Amino acid sequence: MDDLKEQVELLESNANLANTIDDVQRAIDMLVAARAKISRDPQLAPMTLAKLQSPFKDVMKKAHENLGPANKALNKYGKALDKKFKDKPLPTAENDALSSHPSLINRAIAMHLLREGQFNVAATFIEEARQHPPHPEPTAGTPNPYLSESWEKDIANGTFNSTKLQEQFAEMYNILHELRTNRNLSPAIEWARTRTEVLEARGSNLEFELCRLQFICLFVGQDMEGFPTSDNPTDGPLRAWAYARSEFGPFQKRYAREVQSMMGAMAFAPNIADSPYRRHFYNDSAWEEVASSFTKEFCSLLGLSSDSPLYIATTAGAIALPTLLKLQNIMKEKRTEWTTQNELPVEIPLPPSYHFHSIFVCPVSKEQSTDENPPMMMPCGHVIAQESLEKISKGTRFKCPYCPNESHSRDAKKVYL
Ligand SMILES: [Zn+2]
Repeated sequence: MDDLKEQVELLESNANLANTIDDVQRAIDMLVAARAKISRDPQLAPMTLAKLQSPFKDVMKKAHENLGPANKALNKYGKALDKKFKDKPLPTAENDALSSHPSLINRAIAMHLLREGQFNVAATFIEEARQHPPHPEPTAGTPNPYLSESWEKDIANGTFNSTKLQEQFAEMYNILHELRTNRNLSPAIEWARTRTEVLEARGSNLEFELCRLQFICLFVGQDMEGFPTSDNPTDGPLRAWAYARSEFGPFQKRYAREVQSMMGAMAFAPNIADSPYRRHFYNDSAWEEVASSFTKEFCSLLGLSSDSPLYIATTAGAIALPTLLKLQNIMKEKRTEWTTQNELPVEIPLPPSYHFHSIFVCPVSKEQSTDENPPMMMPCGHVIAQESLEKISKGTRFKCPYCPNESHSRDAKKVYL
């Protein structure tokens, strides 16, 4: 894998097409200028063309020369890829659950592009998807739960309206750009302030985190947009103090400790680097933390997850692929088949950030719960799967398998994970 990494780095440093693009643009400019000259005075045509020949040849030669390293790096990278993955054909899709849902995949791609801020690419993609609507090929044995969803039709019919989403994501990227590149907290604070109630209801700390960072920046004397700059070292803490007095009021109740701690730092103002408050004031990742916290809240308020589902699904799929390929081979050798639709036949270890909710395994049937067979809690507090509950109760009063309590199956409540 190290070899491959090296080749990728090489490719990134060599495959710079900017020079070639400049060359080609120069060539185009020459041709356009010549055309204009000839159209003004056709008699000049032979001379203009003759004059053009040599410089045009030169610029095209240069373009080719500049392409050389890129081509070489690309070839080498291809070879390294072949070497690394030889004898590893891509898996065949005998059980392709996605072929039933091409519109769903199109939508996932469109959404991914939109949320990555690639608005032009997204618009082109949506338009092309509309011109060439995909044809679902339902695969036998795969569930088809969403075939008639309205947005599936929307994207197939071209009525999927991305304009609003695009505007919203444009706002998000503007604010993120201000945060990351310009170190300007004002737009993010303004955004959070107009949504104080919703954010607070979600238990979000975003507004406070942003204001705290603003306080710290003023304190350590970073130049901030909208605040006067100064060379006097005591001005920073004074400005921070003034900011806290005017802005921290609403945070007093919920963040009393944190606000106190910020105020406590005042006492250490001349030497904050050696004080217990150092970690707040010299935190390199603070900007990235508020940026990702902002992205998360922004997407949540749109009803979206903070990471692109397409990215998550593809990454999880890539992690699972080797295990599933191995399984496929074993199944072929042993001539067995994987029949369970709602459950993978093997454990796929995914990183903790890919664990989105708890999994419930019924202690009676040892099966994982599904939408059709959800976990049910009996009045005694013990939980078993719905099918187990029906089997044990047979519609009458029954004893819990795990404690002496008796109840009726209709008293059991569905548990949502
Ligand atoms: Zn019980």
